[in-house]
Amino acid sequence: MKSQSEIRRLQGTFDLLPGDSARWVWLESRIRAVMARYSFGEIRVPIMEPTELFQKGTGETTDIVQKEMYTLTDRGNRSLTLRPEGTPSVVRAYLEESLGAQRPLWKLFYIGPMFRAERPQKGRYRQFHQYGAEMIGATSPSADVEVITLCRDILLDLGIHDAKLILNSIGSAEARADYNTNLRQFLLRPDIAGGLCEDCRRRTQTNPLRVFDCKKEGCGRLLRDAPTIDAHLTAEDRQHFEFVTQSLAGLGITYEIDLRMVRGLDYYTRTTFEFKTTRLGAQDALCGGGRYDGLVEVLGGPPTPAVGFAAGMERILATLEESGWSGVTPERLDVFVCAIGDRARSTLGATLGALRRLGLSADTDFQGRGLKAQMKEAGRAGARFALIFGEDELIREQMSLRYMDEARQADISADTSTWTRGLFEKTA
Ligand code: AMP
Repeated sequence: MKSQSEIRRLQGTFDLLPGDSARWVWLESRIRAVMARYSFGEIRVPIMEPTELFQKGTGETTDIVQKEMYTLTDRGNRSLTLRPEGTPSVVRAYLEESLGAQRPLWKLFYIGPMFRAERPQKGRYRQFHQYGAEMIGATSPSADVEVITLCRDILLDLGIHDAKLILNSIGSAEARADYNTNLRQFLLRPDIAGGLCEDCRRRTQTNPLRVFDCKKEGCGRLLRDAPTIDAHLTAEDRQHFEFVTQSLAGLGITYEIDLRMVRGLDYYTRTTFEFKTTRLGAQDALCGGGRYDGLVEVLGGPPTPAVGFAAGMERILATLEESGWSGVTPERLDVFVCAIGDRARSTLGATLGALRRLGLSADTDFQGRGLKAQMKEAGRAGARFALIFGEDELIREQMSLRYMDEARQADISADTSTWTRGLFEKTA
């Protein structure tokens, strides 16, 4: 159908109509149920934040901050940014609400829209949605295992059984400093530097680890011989990682180690992980996360260890659709009320009200149409019952209840105070 709107939605954003939004409501309720089983509490943070939060928290050298943020100046000349990710906001709230002073450990989760000015393509949008979980205050590697297990359990609960867990440790800050020097030396070698794309040449200077995020084939080939982080890990880093891998193995959770998976954000330390699917082509990452022991401090708080993840909800729904999921069965309407004539129409409000107070869904015609058109509408709405009444029925103080699936009808009292839910249960 040709669009009738002169004003179009922004590229990379979408409308959710009732059929689609039902999928989202379902998805959100499943996520909330698993989060509750893991004892994570929901946090809702603003969608816009001071730009500085992401410059500091996400990191100046990340693609997000350098080229993907929706930043605007408000009337008070303040720089605001539509949040590109949730973690910096959660940590800001943790500090702003002095949560650390109340309890040593917080398990928080969020669900909501994120904004990134990326080139729109399948699986990549400008307004997209993430759910994520953060454990703030958790030193033990068992927290990494808890977060990975939670991330996996949500996927399993949704029916995604074939997502692959990719794991790495990018070490503590010291290990990374060493590795950065080593990697930069490699990237500056004339035979390598000459073949790198412009972005990767910039990354060589600003944050060499980021080159592994490059999707260009040429860069990928050159990076095959790049040094990897494992040689630089400290004894504590190794111990931490071993605990994580051994615990996962103990739980029967299979994983693959990818020494080049360093993730795109500045704040990660030690464990990083992703769940990938083979069902979506290039945009194959469903969830990504890891430990971020430095972030609370970067945002002005005391040194506080933390670990978390974020998952892309559009990609999760796309994965389900690729696996043949037919979506959520729409709820059927319970009763469609067909009123014929002015007197019947004038009592409609009371009839609908009585049905709704019984907890039933009820709808009617609002266009003054005849019985035939109203019955057609009842059929379209998938109504289980049609309640029909006109002048005659009202005189007899009766209404006709038509059982839509059974081609039969019965008379019921027009006195709504005598109605019970049982009257509208299927009896056949
Ligand atoms: P990130 O915050 O970049 O670690 O991303 C976490 C997850 O969010 C990814 O694994 C994707 O599933 C999803 N995601 C990130 N960027 C986008 C985007 N532009 N459009 C849709 N999903 C996205």
